Amino acid sequence: MKIRLSSKLSKESMVEYAKHILDYEKFRLSLLMFLIGFVIIKITLLFPAIAEGYAVNIFRPVSSGIGRLVALVPFSLSEVLLILLVFLGVCYVIKKILRIIKSKKDRENELFIRLIKNFILNILVICAGVYLVYVLTWGILYNRYTFASTANLDVSPATVTELKALCYDLIIEANNSRESVEEDKNGVMKLEYDVKRMTELSHIGYDKAASRYSTLWGTYGNAKQLIFSKAYAYTQTIGIYSPFLFEPNINSDYIPAALPHLVCHETAHQRGYAREDDANFLGFLACINNYDDYNFQYSGYYVASLYALNSLYKVDQKSYFDLTDQFSDAVMRDLGNNRKYDNAHDGPIATASNSINDSFLKFNNQKEGVQSYGAMTDLLIGWFRNELKIHGN
Ligand SMILES: [Zn+2]
Repeated sequence: MKIRLSSKLSKESMVEYAKHILDYEKFRLSLLMFLIGFVIIKITLLFPAIAEGYAVNIFRPVSSGIGRLVALVPFSLSEVLLILLVFLGVCYVIKKILRIIKSKKDRENELFIRLIKNFILNILVICAGVYLVYVLTWGILYNRYTFASTANLDVSPATVTELKALCYDLIIEANNSRESVEEDKNGVMKLEYDVKRMTELSHIGYDKAASRYSTLWGTYGNAKQLIFSKAYAYTQTIGIYSPFLFEPNINSDYIPAALPHLVCHETAHQRGYAREDDANFLGFLACINNYDDYNFQYSGYYVASLYALNSLYKVDQKSYFDLTDQFSDAVMRDLGNNRKYDNAHDGPIATASNSINDSFLKFNNQKEGVQSYGAMTDLLIGWFRNELKIHGN
């Protein structure tokens, strides 16, 4: 229906009318953005081929291009912008609330209602905009094909015998590669270069793995170290991938044995793999394909063996303890350091952070929540079956 403006309308009525139209447009825009985001998620959930095509043909060049630009900034841009946005957001909310309280005190009822309406509509537009961008840069990627299906990995349930064989293989590889890494005065693994250099070297394994798995192909920006790594450690946050800036961030305070795998995990997200089991497995694949670097080799086998052993523990505790005894003394020292780090950073903040992550993953249709990290074992089994076919027993 068209509204005809009377030429007799006063200037105030015209202004009121314009404000009314603006409110209506804000509301309509918000609904539209929420609806588009929601429909994209539902359609790609039904048709993963669309999400896969999007990931490979649109997300990949965008992530590569913007990610490399963001990587030119020497510090974590996401972390700095997040702090700035929280500060500005809090200032904005306080300013608006004070203005609303003042209008109520001055008994300006019309202004009071108008300010509240305006405040809610502005928040709605911002939330809808963020949601739509989030869907395009991250949410949609949960619905692409799993890495196991594109790589043709047989991830059908493993027998206990298979699981034990996988654990044994990973433990032996971890023991062997551990012999070539450097140690600190406590006999715990230390990186032979700084964390920045490690982030630069993390692409090598992916480049090599890409010759076999083409979806991993691409040039991407380096991961960054979180500025407040020590503080984040108390939330047990070891890595954060920012989908808005295509920027992987790692907690450089984490234990050296797991750091190379961690950086490869976060860069898997940058390569368009959102699911945590995929990212964990790709982190392992990138580590072990970094043939000449034992820091990466060891880290990949170290982390993978722990996930595989955790899965074994659920079905055969005796074999779990028997196999854990197979770790060399050097690996045991790293495990001790790992336990010390976890215990030192455990507490209510870590529990709360864990449950936020769990809810976030479930919101993204990852039914297993934080347990999905452990589903990496299924991919390891698929990889192990392939290796046995190629190299034999
Ligand atoms: Zn992750």
